[in-house]
Amino acid sequence: MSQRATRGNRYLSDEEIKNKPKVTKELLVRILGYLKPYALQMTLVLILIGLSSVLGLLPTIITGRMIDEGLIQQNLPMLIKLIFLSLIVTLGAQLIGVLQNYLNSWIAQHITFDMRNQMYRHLQKMSHRFFTTNSQGDIITRMTSDISGVQSIITNTMTSILSNSITLVAALIAMFQKNVVLALVGIVIVPLFMIPTKKVGKTRWEITNESQKCQDEINGILNETLSVSGQLLVKLFNKEEEEALHYEQINKKMVSLNLKESMAGRWFRLVLSTVATVGPMLIYLVGGVLMMKYDASLTVGDITVLVSLLGKMYSPVNSLLNLSVDWIRSLSLFQRLFDYFDMEVEIKNQEHPVVLDHVEGGIEFKNVCFHYEPERQILKDISFDLTPGKSIAIVGPSGSGKSTIINLIPRIYDVISGEVCFDGVDVRQLDLAFLRTQIGLVSQETYLFNGTVLENLKYANPKATEEMIVEACKKANIHDFISRQPEGYNTMVGNRGLKLSGGEKQRLSIARVLLKDPAILIFDEATSSLDSISEDLIQSAIDPLIETKTSIIIAHRLSTVLACDEILVLKEGTIVERGQHDELVKLGGTYTELYETQFKRALEKMNAEE
Ligand code: ATP
Repeated sequence: MSQRATRGNRYLSDEEIKNKPKVTKELLVRILGYLKPYALQMTLVLILIGLSSVLGLLPTIITGRMIDEGLIQQNLPMLIKLIFLSLIVTLGAQLIGVLQNYLNSWIAQHITFDMRNQMYRHLQKMSHRFFTTNSQGDIITRMTSDISGVQSIITNTMTSILSNSITLVAALIAMFQKNVVLALVGIVIVPLFMIPTKKVGKTRWEITNESQKCQDEINGILNETLSVSGQLLVKLFNKEEEEALHYEQINKKMVSLNLKESMAGRWFRLVLSTVATVGPMLIYLVGGVLMMKYDASLTVGDITVLVSLLGKMYSPVNSLLNLSVDWIRSLSLFQRLFDYFDMEVEIKNQEHPVVLDHVEGGIEFKNVCFHYEPERQILKDISFDLTPGKSIAIVGPSGSGKSTIINLIPRIYDVISGEVCFDGVDVRQLDLAFLRTQIGLVSQETYLFNGTVLENLKYANPKATEEMIVEACKKANIHDFISRQPEGYNTMVGNRGLKLSGGEKQRLSIARVLLKDPAILIFDEATSSLDSISEDLIQSAIDPLIETKTSIIIAHRLSTVLACDEILVLKEGTIVERGQHDELVKLGGTYTELYETQFKRALEKMNAEE
């Protein structure tokens, strides 16, 4: 698997990495849409941030008075009073900070709660095509880390921007109020901050994107090599060492990227702290000259306060400049989520979906054409009729389009042209939930959830009584097996049902479909070779069902084919022959070929085993 093309799920496209995502008005409006329901709480947070930022500056201003009115004038009561005042203000600012933090997290949690639910619902509605096209890792990343990223934007980035901006403005106002000349001297070096910030911002942007890609690759490897089937493949091909080395290699790259990122930050801080020391020196110098030569009203306390305020101002400037990278990254996270939200739900109800009062269970294909990709036609002009109570077997070489045909009935895909009708109504007109309730599909790949046998069965019908469950399991020839287990119906089926054999899984999934009691049964008979006992068990479960229920079955066994009322022979997406076994064998065409190669051999094998 090391050589496989590891397709990382990206946070940003190559184009975006170069250009950075564009902050459009639409994007901002859309993001604000998520904040809107919490406008009241947001306003409160804003007020609290404002209060705590301003209160945070007060001790600095009080310090000036401590120096001038307390220390220089040697007024001890005043000094103590001011110290107490400063402590109370600091405590007040901290308490407000705690409240603001709580409220902030509350908002973030609620917004992400909304987003998660919305995304999950949306993903549930996405078509099968979506899940076969997108990597599972990508889908999971959007549901988990992207949404968590959004949460951190609200709790960290947004608060940081707000509190830093308010502190910055408040510090500036306080400085200008104290002394205009010194305030101007203080801010004159601010543009110098921008030079290293811009440079480091770009480097950090590139490194974080690189490490994001690296992280995606790591996730991809974990996803593939630590899954049940992936692990089996690794073991069977002796790839443990190779996979470990591959993982180590990417891990190493990650370490070097992380080191690079932290070094970029260090160099940045070094330059900034040097630049930041220049400001206070300038204020001391200019302030000293002013105080000694021109302005006797200027006090030592004033100069000290101005220097402290300058420190309070530089830090938000620094943070805000730094935040520009986080901000753009944050927007791109939102964009990634919106990309998914914007994907149209392909298979959905019409405006006024039809629900039939009376269900017969007939199916009709009228000149159906279908393709997955326009350049490759899969089904060509398929027409057939399945009358209620009858059964049809579809046979044909591998890849001829058999599974595709049955997927069109419960609208896993929609036809490109023609019509698939259920009881005379185009399936696209029917209510999707109604349609799918009428159809029971047992596919080749049986999927069971990691839970008990009972839980898996009840998934089809949560209201099923014990008798109903036992009856379905008896019909599916799985009851005896379940009863023999020490835990009976409470036996755990394991991850994806892997603790059960292929035959047991299939019979369990037949029982599950029977509990649904659908009008039409569709079986995609497994091609995987089961031993004759397993085959017999499945066969004796399926055969009576075919007799009693309207059914379509993709048949790989002669006995199934023989049990059906009509056989459709499919070749390269076209029905080339149709009829009953005896007539088809005589034709000497595709069916005869299949009979000679597939059915007869399987029969001989089974006879030999017996
Ligand atoms: P088998 O007997 O091997 O299961 P089948 O007759 O059921 O084969 P289908 O699964 O219907 O064949 O596939 C028909 C063709 O459509 C195949 O060539 C396959 O490669 C292609 N195909 C199937 N699923 C998809 C998909 N999701 N996207 C693109 N092509 C697909």
